[in-house]
Amino acid sequence: MKTKFLFITGGVLSSLGKGLSAASIGALLQTRGMSVTIQKLDPYINVDPGTMNPYQHGEVFVTDDGAETDLDLGHYERFLNLSLSQRNNTTSGAIYYKVITKERRGDYLGGTVQVIPHITDEIKSAILSLSEGDNPPDVAIIEIGGTVGDIEGQPFLEAIRQLRSDLGRDNCLYIHLTLVPYLRAAGEHKTKPTQHSVKELRSIGIQPDIILCRCEEPVPDDLKAKIALFCNVDKDAVFSAVDVKSIYELPLRLYEEGLDQKIAIMLRLPARNANLDAWKNLVHAIHNPSGKAVIAVVGKYVELKEAYKSLHESLVHGGIANGVALELRYVNSEEITPDNVAGFFAGVDGILVPGGFGYRGVEGKIEAIRYAREAKVPFFGICLGMQCAVIEYGRNVAGIEGLTSEEFDPNAKDKIIYLMKEWYDFRRKATEHRDSSSDKGGTMRLGAYPCDLKEKTLAFAAYGQEHISERHRHRYEFNNAYRDRLAEKGMIFSGLSPDGNLVEIVELPDHPWFLGCQFHPEFHSRPMHPHPLFKAFIAAACRYRNKKK
Ligand code: GLN
Repeated sequence: MKTKFLFITGGVLSSLGKGLSAASIGALLQTRGMSVTIQKLDPYINVDPGTMNPYQHGEVFVTDDGAETDLDLGHYERFLNLSLSQRNNTTSGAIYYKVITKERRGDYLGGTVQVIPHITDEIKSAILSLSEGDNPPDVAIIEIGGTVGDIEGQPFLEAIRQLRSDLGRDNCLYIHLTLVPYLRAAGEHKTKPTQHSVKELRSIGIQPDIILCRCEEPVPDDLKAKIALFCNVDKDAVFSAVDVKSIYELPLRLYEEGLDQKIAIMLRLPARNANLDAWKNLVHAIHNPSGKAVIAVVGKYVELKEAYKSLHESLVHGGIANGVALELRYVNSEEITPDNVAGFFAGVDGILVPGGFGYRGVEGKIEAIRYAREAKVPFFGICLGMQCAVIEYGRNVAGIEGLTSEEFDPNAKDKIIYLMKEWYDFRRKATEHRDSSSDKGGTMRLGAYPCDLKEKTLAFAAYGQEHISERHRHRYEFNNAYRDRLAEKGMIFSGLSPDGNLVEIVELPDHPWFLGCQFHPEFHSRPMHPHPLFKAFIAAACRYRNKKK
């Protein structure tokens, strides 16, 4: 079977959950035995989201091949259990960059370079690249970022409009996600925003095949019929996407609506029954925990859940793996001082310090780590969290006063976290074309790197194997000049790069569970395959909680 393309656009307003809908549709198609791939097209001008701060963009999701991508790719990987790559996310900026590079090279010599056809052709080839290779997927789902009507998004919509005539009717399907608000005062659902947004879509030449209505309560049948009539779609092509308690319920809800069936008919996919047992079991486990654990996440962007999306999900997965519900407390590290630290963690069963950039809030994180170490509360430090953990240990246990990271104070005497010269030069060379005038961009260690674990450690116990591979996104490394001094004081370097040069995991003995890793395990966790470290951390938190009782 040749790859079929399913395009998802969004209307009315942003944050309707287009990414989750796309991921859920993909998961549903997988349960019918289809192979699926998925791509996000982002209309902004940044070449990738790597340079945006979390307030702008939420989390930057990193793939094995080191692409810095939209956080929707995290949903895709978690729902579809796939490992995605650079080609699963592109932006207007990246598309224009390619076209302008070609233009400078003289590829279009003699011609005027225009949005149509040059930009749209480049977009089409990014989409079609998904069906290349030896094993093309049965279905490729393409999510267009933004909302229909945005100026920026127009070339993308034009490109997917053209693809239907290029590829044929049976090979392309347009799904439009809109909002159907429920007005409590009037006691009814309102369809006008949907009508307007479909009108907008049709004015650029795209007639949606399926309308997915995001709503608080299921849209009643008579209203679905009204939407079908006004928006010119089949009567049975209007579906509700209701609010769900857990995002992992969404595939089940859409299945109950019959969405996969309609997609299969319209795309002429083989008639097969969906097997949703795995999803049902997952949702059952989520809704029937046998206990709970309280986890504090100590960070800088605590008011912004989007910034810690994968982390949040990975913790949830760790909870599922241990049969417990998690109560997550986000603590703003800037508010933590030596005097008030204990108050923040009263009743907490585990403390997690996630990744981050810059000095702001760091002293509070270090204070939280000291507390976790001394009070023997299970601790998990990720990336910056690990870096803070070695600073804390170096300062307070090995007695190296003023110890810090090069990131926080480039002129400090003792820098236990630093720019490793070999790495820095290597990365700069490798990315010179990208940003020769900047010392920041292009110098991060990105993507999957191997790590070897020491036997008889927390890390080894969690993974149950010696060789692992995890994703990275950081600039600074552990400074080996300090390794012996910390080891003498008991710190265990349980995970190292295969050449032994890069410290990947540190941990402490004589503590219920204290582990820091330089990589980001949250990018590999899936609801049906919880990450070993999150599983072990939550297990330790549960033991800690039970002991307290
Ligand atoms: N800021 C630190 C570094 O660049 C940690 C990065 C992170 O936590 N992702 O090394």
